[in-house]
Amino acid sequence: MPAMSKVAAISSVGQALVAEGVISDVQLERALRVQKLLEQPKQLGEVLVDLGYAKKQAINNAIKKHGGTMRLGDILLEQGIIAQEALTSALALQRERGIRLGQALVEIGAVNERTLMQNLAHQLNVPFIEPSFGMISQDLFTGVSPDFLSNHCFVPFSKNADGITVVIVGNIESQETRHAVESLYQGQVEFALGPEDAIRQTIEDFGRFRRGGADFVSAKTSSEETVVRLVDNLFHQAIEERASDIHIEPMARKVRVRYRIDGVLVYKTDLPLELLPNVISRIKVMADVNITEHQRHQGGRIEIKYKEREYDLRLSVFVSVHGESAVLRVLNRDMALVPLDELGMVPPMLERFRNDVLDPPTGVVLITGPTGSGKTTTLYSSIDYCNDIGRKILTAEDPAEFMIDGIVQCSIYDKVGRTFDSTLREMVRQDPDIIVMGEIRDKISAQVAIQAALTGHKVYSTFHTEDTIGGLLRLIDMDIETFLISSTVISVLAQRLLRRICPKCATAHLPNAKEVMALGLDMVEVRRHEYHRGKGCRYCSYTGYRGRIAAYELLVLNEQVKEAILQRQSSQHIREISTESTGLVSMREDAIAKVLQGVTTFEEVLKQTPRTFTTRPLQQIINMCK
Ligand SMILES: [Zn+2]
Repeated sequence: MPAMSKVAAISSVGQALVAEGVISDVQLERALRVQKLLEQPKQLGEVLVDLGYAKKQAINNAIKKHGGTMRLGDILLEQGIIAQEALTSALALQRERGIRLGQALVEIGAVNERTLMQNLAHQLNVPFIEPSFGMISQDLFTGVSPDFLSNHCFVPFSKNADGITVVIVGNIESQETRHAVESLYQGQVEFALGPEDAIRQTIEDFGRFRRGGADFVSAKTSSEETVVRLVDNLFHQAIEERASDIHIEPMARKVRVRYRIDGVLVYKTDLPLELLPNVISRIKVMADVNITEHQRHQGGRIEIKYKEREYDLRLSVFVSVHGESAVLRVLNRDMALVPLDELGMVPPMLERFRNDVLDPPTGVVLITGPTGSGKTTTLYSSIDYCNDIGRKILTAEDPAEFMIDGIVQCSIYDKVGRTFDSTLREMVRQDPDIIVMGEIRDKISAQVAIQAALTGHKVYSTFHTEDTIGGLLRLIDMDIETFLISSTVISVLAQRLLRRICPKCATAHLPNAKEVMALGLDMVEVRRHEYHRGKGCRYCSYTGYRGRIAAYELLVLNEQVKEAILQRQSSQHIREISTESTGLVSMREDAIAKVLQGVTTFEEVLKQTPRTFTTRPLQQIINMCK
């Protein structure tokens, strides 16, 4: 525990920044004075950025470097995890009841226990490990009773070659626990911090296992089998938590494991650094890649079955300075199609999308947004809606992701000469009614799409542009004649994904003034409605969100918009015309409507949707979206 013995010379963000030479004493003093004068409380870091004294990056680096000796409240504050108001009330509660600051913050709901513990581990410079019984070698349980573990709330996790045992404790500040653990292992111990609920569950599972008697003896495992179980455990937990990617990253003193859930990286656990070679080898064996190669990046594939479902894990091993880093993308093979009315379109938009976009027999429909914005899901739902016995649907995809019964799908495969271009040329000779092009990549594919629409086909495709108007301008930039665009493109749909508030830990919440202002809304009007946010619980992996919903911007081209395209008007002008003449609801407004329905938060709206020049008043948005 090196951090514990260090002299606590630097205890505030300001001191850390001065020590690092980021700001001078004078600048610190000025910033503190400015901070006191502010009506709306601000973090010191923000004030320094506003004054132009420091960059956000330099501040974060200083916090990282001096985190070990800084106050917990300061770390949470500077990282934007808690607000100044919350810290002030937690400090008051701390004084009043004589409890720890962390506990006070949890009690007032400013932070959840998991996040608090991860930051505490960071502050104390020890690993944060979330244990489960399956991850731990049973040799380590020899000679200890579940009662003893339970009384002190700790579990052994691993033992390194020097005979040092890594022990996960729930309350690292308890001297009693530390003494008990140290005497049990004769001082040959390294501490890690872990969530109390996970530690208690592990002890309970261990107790149940021991009561099984015979099982325990026969299941005495080698260290190799322990690694096998540990890796399986990481994979299974990732699936349970609906992760799309698993990141196993060696750092200077530990291995960090994170899951990407609903598009956001979530810190799951640390592992002792000495386990890295065995963990990576095990993963390589499963993926059937060379386990003796440690100098080159490698890729592979693992097929696993969990709870009757099959999963593909696409492995990439990257050689980093601290060792091999593994990332696994989780693909669920039995992914289901989402019905059109479950995509998240508000009722008037859904009706319009069916009647004016999907039902017409010809024309080009573009679905646009950045990678990972859910375009493919919308595309498949749309195709599925059009899929009936009277229509021939052909696709060119790279690669085909879902299989839909009743349509002819083609995966592009350049190596054998089945290129995108040759596939597009051949498609029109297959007498289709509907053509689906995975993506419009260049001028050639854009021309094919337009040509097909001109000859009476319906064409669906996706595009990478910021919003609907951007989609139209992109076609103009590709040198497609404006009269061809205005006579074939019937609609552009832009989208983003917003995380949904976790239903199990949602609580009432008033949005802060900063968010409201950034969205261009009026605080007085905002206060007339109710809002929610998730505090973070086990069900949502302590993120406060679970699952996602799309925010849409649906542009259906009318005569005025077509005329504006013909005249090559600016994007702002085309947007104004679309807003006035077609009742275009921007993605941001659609997202705000979802906040008012209690589905998501302003924080998500700001993070995910592009800025618009003007946002309508809330009441008007409500009227347009119901
Ligand atoms: Zn939750």
